[in-house]
Amino acid sequence: MFRWLRKRPTLLEKMYQTTEKAAWKLTPLVARVGYARVERLIRPVEDFTKERLFGCHHCGQCILHSTGMVCPMECPKNLRNGPCGGVRSNGHCEVKPEMRCVWVVAYENAQKMPIYGHELAHIQPPVNRQLENTSAWINLLTGADKQVPAGWAQAPSPAATQSQPA
Ligand code: SF4
Repeated sequence: MFRWLRKRPTLLEKMYQTTEKAAWKLTPLVARVGYARVERLIRPVEDFTKERLFGCHHCGQCILHSTGMVCPMECPKNLRNGPCGGVRSNGHCEVKPEMRCVWVVAYENAQKMPIYGHELAHIQPPVNRQLENTSAWINLLTGADKQVPAGWAQAPSPAATQSQPA
């Protein structure tokens, strides 16, 4: 079941979109009950599902929908903004030759994702290690996953740069 779903990024992004919409609708209730309390309830489910579906490493800042429904933390170098220079000619990882490069798969998947596929071009901020082993869903609702290190400024995406007048 999980393996079957892994190969269906179009369906996965739809599932993500539906879950995200529901999460935002439930935010007032979650805030009333308490984020910490709700996190204790949902984290086991989140961990179980994402480990099996995506090989989740529990970074707490989920960007799956922006990376072709592939977990970027599966990359042995934990790269969140595209591949390193070591991708083999067969599209496999230089560190783990038996594994396809996370970013090759992300690119292929993004082509099949009409909703979030374009987000592959977004520049991701450095990962905040302080959020490791916390619920990415709760961090989304509280905005904790959007906090970036002081002095970090998001570079314009390649698409935005191209559309700027000369
Ligand atoms: S929470 Fe982080 S480690 Fe887990 S699937 Fe999402 S991006 Fe990957």
